[in-house]
Amino acid sequence: MDRILISACLLGRPVRYDGNGKRLDDPRLDRWQAEGRLVPVCPELLGELSVPRPAAEIAGGSGADVLAGRARVVTATGEDVTAAFIAGAKAALDLARRSGCAHALLIDRSPSCGSVQIYDGTFSGRRLVGAGVTAALLAAHGIGVYADHEIDRLAAAIGSEA
Ligand code: SF4
Repeated sequence: MDRILISACLLGRPVRYDGNGKRLDDPRLDRWQAEGRLVPVCPELLGELSVPRPAAEIAGGSGADVLAGRARVVTATGEDVTAAFIAGAKAALDLARRSGCAHALLIDRSPSCGSVQIYDGTFSGRRLVGAGVTAALLAAHGIGVYADHEIDRLAAAIGSEA
């Protein structure tokens, strides 16, 4: 049975920077959880950041650029949190491998978990097409990454649509 790495906040866990969760209400999630398919992860907590924590954005590129050393993750006050984000991404990849997850369902626009869009690093609300640090690392290692709004595609990929 396919196991799925999932952003812990999508299950309602209060791990986001603002201390909230962001539960995705979808009966398929409930079923997959009951089937034992879901492996929750919060890369930023695995990177030893706290809750709550300052919002962060990728400055100067995307998650792949951060992994390649060409961009940084910073808070609005300019604190460099790149190392924590990279550590969290590596820990999430390790968890996915140990748990046998070939797929991941991650909340979009996060500097860690975003896979379709991220914010542009100016803290102005502007977005660009790109992935966060964890999503980029997982995808680079062959894990199928889906944004929360792509759950239909994930369900089709694992043959569990009903
Ligand atoms: S790092 Fe991912 S799982 Fe953790 S709060 Fe941010 S979006 Fe949710």
